[in-house]
Amino acid sequence: MTSSDFNRIRHLTFVLINAYHSVNSAATQEALYAQISDEMYQLSETLAPFIRDIKSPTLTKEGAEKLLASVKDEVVPFEFPTKAVIQKLFNKVKKLQVPEVDHLELRDYTYFAWNDLASHRKYMLVKHAGQMRGIYGTIGTDTKKNTCAICSQTSQVVQFMALTKSNVDGTYTKNGNYICLDSDACNHQMQHELGLANFVSTVLPK
Ligand SMILES: [Zn+2]
Repeated sequence: MTSSDFNRIRHLTFVLINAYHSVNSAATQEALYAQISDEMYQLSETLAPFIRDIKSPTLTKEGAEKLLASVKDEVVPFEFPTKAVIQKLFNKVKKLQVPEVDHLELRDYTYFAWNDLASHRKYMLVKHAGQMRGIYGTIGTDTKKNTCAICSQTSQVVQFMALTKSNVDGTYTKNGNYICLDSDACNHQMQHELGLANFVSTVLPK
């Protein structure tokens, strides 16, 4: 499963636990469990033991975190490219600063992005249609609370203008999107990949 699938499972698990602790009606709890377990099965059939384990109205948040830790082992980590590959993906960029990722848990990332505040740019590495792509653009200096085009959550967002060289006439096209300033937080909030896929198709050259 993907990192965003895991975030979805985590979110649903806590919705269920909240209902266990706040809704008295057993029928309502069971209906919610049925709905949530259905969605989880669709994400991954290997979740069967986990889905059984969370069918317990006495389950605590701490207990759920322990169960979730074993689910997380099934997440496919983000394939961070080598520095040489990254240089190639951003071959138009001079003096590219690539962050060190050795200490990061790559299971927390559906895509990877970092800000270069000196040049007001954001760089993104994202797998799209089976291929690793490098996307970069400028980010505004003002942030505001609004919906992020990638994670679809209300978040501190910034306007991102992709600098994409069109293959057709060689000119740069700009496409504005509001996305999370903090891409680590964005990854943590993502519960599906639809927003990311749409975002990537808007900013990649046609
Ligand atoms: Zn976001």
